[in-house]
Amino acid sequence: MDLQLSPEHEDLRKTVEQFARDEVAPVIGDYYSRGEFPLPLVAKMADLGLFGLPFPEEYGGMGGDFVALCVALEELGRVDSSLAITLEAGVSLGAMPIYRFGSEELKAQWLPKLTSGQMLGAFGLTEAGAGSDAGGTRTRAELIDGHWVINGSKAFITNSGTAITGLVTVTAVTGINPDGSKEISAILVPSGTPGFTVAKDYQKVGWNASDTHELSFVDVQVPESNLVGQRGRGYAQFLRILDEGRIAIAALATGLAQGCVDESVRYANTREAFGQPIGAYQGVSFLVADMEVRAHTSRLAWRDAVARMEAGLPFKRQASIAKLHSSNAAMDNSRYATQVFGGAGFTIEYPVGRFYRDAKILEIGEGTAEVQRMLIARDLGLPRG
Ligand SMILES: Cc1cc2nc3c(=O)[nH]c(=O)nc-3n(C[C@H](O)[C@H](O)[C@H](O)COP(=O)(O)OP(=O)(O)OC[C@H]3O[C@@H](n4cnc5c(N)ncnc54)[C@H](O)[C@@H]3O)c2cc1C
Repeated sequence: MDLQLSPEHEDLRKTVEQFARDEVAPVIGDYYSRGEFPLPLVAKMADLGLFGLPFPEEYGGMGGDFVALCVALEELGRVDSSLAITLEAGVSLGAMPIYRFGSEELKAQWLPKLTSGQMLGAFGLTEAGAGSDAGGTRTRAELIDGHWVINGSKAFITNSGTAITGLVTVTAVTGINPDGSKEISAILVPSGTPGFTVAKDYQKVGWNASDTHELSFVDVQVPESNLVGQRGRGYAQFLRILDEGRIAIAALATGLAQGCVDESVRYANTREAFGQPIGAYQGVSFLVADMEVRAHTSRLAWRDAVARMEAGLPFKRQASIAKLHSSNAAMDNSRYATQVFGGAGFTIEYPVGRFYRDAKILEIGEGTAEVQRMLIARDLGLPRG
């Protein structure tokens, strides 16, 4: 049993740590304040090969694994979540469905551009009326003369409107199953296809340097061969993608939780009150110690889940445990880190204020905290509500 990083993963961790510290930390606050997508930093992440980490070299990838992606996400998340979610969504949601389920033709056409980071892909599952209940999708696709004709809309889609976005894979109802349930399939829609519109960016509470849009589809036509995976398997495929994605989000959340420890230790050692550094007071040092416990246990949880996944073992429950625990840890740590900083924590001068704003979405995206509890309870054999 070994939850330590291999020498290759440790090298990658150091590379991303240095990139985040030297190149991201000095400038990300400005992008965040402006609500601007940090294209030059994303280009540098592409140069480092981060978008290709878990993909084989034949598709332009780095030949690594999902652990490598999680290591990179944790290190980025320690400094900034907007860039970390851009990487997570680009790899785990944008490229992975094509890699896992796409035809060889789709893989050859799209993966090299996505794994090089030259292009970003998006994943469109959520709709205004279908979030946690993603099977409630109303977007429809009809096969007419060798083309899917798509009508509907998607909500809150990450990476869908950047200058380098090249595609979104959407779930759509393509028929009715014999038991009366919806037949849901996944279809790849290239950016710029007539009838496919990207609406304005959302004004968000956090992740302010990441890209999130509502999408609309009016008689959008794509070739039949843009079906990703089997017809009618779209929902099941997306659930598998989300199981993996939850481990990735857990790694990102661990990074945020650890970033709160890093910043708090620095500040508590230098800020003085009543003639001593505030870290000398147990009221502060115990807050920081508890933060470290949460960051450490979050790391163990994602590493356990990804080890099971890589070993081909069932990992659904462990992925949900990791996601639930680490997102709670990120929320708690960001709250306490802001407390350690006092009034300074409530300004945008220090990263902890950004961490505080960025933590909340971790309890919502890729399955809310309640959805994780539902999945864990079901896996334990409890009946569906
Ligand atoms: C910044 C951002 C980026 C996102 N990126 C993407 C993306 O790239 N692609 C994508 O497809 N989606 C994306 N999403 C959507 C996200 O996954 C959904 O918001 C999330 O799954 C929750 O769905 P909802 O917002 O419809 O909330 P709802 O499903 O309406 O939930 C509202 C509340 O009800 C609770 N609830 C619902 N059902 C139950 C139940 N049965 N039992 C107990 N409680 C329940 C929920 O836990 C929640 O607390 C993103 C969202 C945001 C905000």
